[in-house]
Amino acid sequence: MKLKQIKLAGFKSFVDPTKIPFEKALTGIIGPNGCGKSNVIDAVRWVLGESSAKHLRGGAMTDVIFSGSNARNPVSVASVELTFENQDGRLVGQYASYQEISVKRQVTRDGDAFYFLNGQKCRRKDITDLFMGTGLGPRSYAIIEQGMISRLIESKPQDLRVFIEEAAGISRYKERRRDTENR
Ligand code: ATP
Ligand code: MG
Repeated sequence: MKLKQIKLAGFKSFVDPTKIPFEKALTGIIGPNGCGKSNVIDAVRWVLGESSAKHLRGGAMTDVIFSGSNARNPVSVASVELTFENQDGRLVGQYASYQEISVKRQVTRDGDAFYFLNGQKCRRKDITDLFMGTGLGPRSYAIIEQGMISRLIESKPQDLRVFIEEAAGISRYKERRRDTENR
């Protein structure tokens, strides 16, 4: 799975529609303090289903919506769309044959939340299910943040196992079993 493009609008400091393409194998994002580098990572995590505002460095979930600046009024909707290439066939189920998949999340000031898969409205669970076992969940290892390596090294075997199960692709089956048992 390769992230090909991020489209943001009204998300944190990205008030105007912004496209960030990732065309080469490695992309660096550089800029002065406070220019929005970490906001790009927050955007990725948000779409992948992050449900804790604290992990997105905010208080409430609607804090991701552009809140205005000296020059600009606040806006009422934040949306982020990620486009992935499925060249290594990590996606399973109905999306297995897709070359590309786009995942979008939108939130309004009233707190209404929407998710889309290839432009079709879907549930949050459809997105988390889709990425489970690909290493791309909101707390998975695709995003390695500050302090994470030392947390991993020091973590308990049970916690480490969660990462190994995700890498091995079995977490999705465990989740399905939990689902079935809870029905
Ligand atoms: P550093 O180099 O210090 O890590 P950075 O480039 O990672 O900086 P970010 O933390 O991504 O910077 O961006 C911080 C900026 O985003 C701040 O100027 C902050 O005001 C702005 N910001 C965050 N949330 C919002 C919001 N909801 N509305 C408007 N601006 C926001
Ligand atoms: Mg930063």
